[in-house]
Amino acid sequence: MLIVMKMDAAPEQIESVVQKIEAHGLKAHAIPGAQRTAIGITGNIGALDRALVASMPGVLEVIRVSHPYKLVSREFRHQDTVVEIGGVPVGGPEFVVIAGPCSVESYEQTLRIARLVKAAGAHLLRGGAYKPRTSPYSFQGLGEEGLRILARVREETGLPVVTEATDIDVLDGVVEYADAVQVGARNMQNYTLLKRVGRCARPVLLKRGMNATVTELLLAAEYILDQGNPNVVLCERGIRTFTDHSRNTLDLSAVPEVKRISHLPVITDPSHAAGERTKVLPLTRASVAVGADGVMIEVHDRPEEALSDGDQALLPEEFERLMAAVRRLAPLVERSVPSYAAR
Ligand code: PEP
Ligand code: MN
Repeated sequence: MLIVMKMDAAPEQIESVVQKIEAHGLKAHAIPGAQRTAIGITGNIGALDRALVASMPGVLEVIRVSHPYKLVSREFRHQDTVVEIGGVPVGGPEFVVIAGPCSVESYEQTLRIARLVKAAGAHLLRGGAYKPRTSPYSFQGLGEEGLRILARVREETGLPVVTEATDIDVLDGVVEYADAVQVGARNMQNYTLLKRVGRCARPVLLKRGMNATVTELLLAAEYILDQGNPNVVLCERGIRTFTDHSRNTLDLSAVPEVKRISHLPVITDPSHAAGERTKVLPLTRASVAVGADGVMIEVHDRPEEALSDGDQALLPEEFERLMAAVRRLAPLVERSVPSYAAR
């Protein structure tokens, strides 16, 4: 249920509505808008008398929300949400590029790659310290040492850091060192982790599970917002299909669909979708065209030595070409590509 307050509703009237909702054991989420405040309600609303709320002073209307998700929905918040990651806005008029290695392998490797992606124009640095690997024998990441490396590289380059928390045990460390917490595709339905990141003090990059529907993705985000963290960026990273020409299938139509339903920013990850480097540029172009708010791209200067995902990592000159393409295409869809090189 969504309560829309009148334009001239007084703060005390808003507060009385909030109190009425909470007196029924429900959670009230006041959403101030440019014109008026809306109040979203979550919890079991069966016991709340709709007519009673509708007659309270300052209330314009009470709307039934027909979807299972609420806080992530445009019915709750009409304007696009802009999520700031280390001062970089995601979801506004600027198209954002997150780039870096799949894994943090060493300080030198991470610094080299961070410097080159920054020189090419990337806005945020990615790199996994904790790696969710299909095989227990594959490189699992440097763990806390990897987090410390990322923090040092941020000091050196000024690039804010996005890195994955693979479970609740490592979350506090990720929150301490990173500017945004990534929840990986394999964890999109790890509800304990979602609730914990919902209570953490960092923005969250939530990746779509490889077999998750758009509704399931939005409900996963709903867990995070419901716990009080409104700063969620969604990421389409490719889903499993019968295709055998690429690692996954980048579900481009999910981007406008999610943006239609939700106010949250949506980026794509062409690297994990494609699984090999030649398709990363075309899928990035398509992502800009389809209205994504940004892309996340894996880059390595020595991909043959990479400890994970070397086949899909762009070489430095390929990444430069990708940035040039993004700069050319973004204005065609009314986006700009900020340059932070001087930061
Ligand atoms: C990653 O971005 O490092 C990653 C493991 O991606 P995904 O969760 O999408 O597989
Ligand atoms: Mn990877």
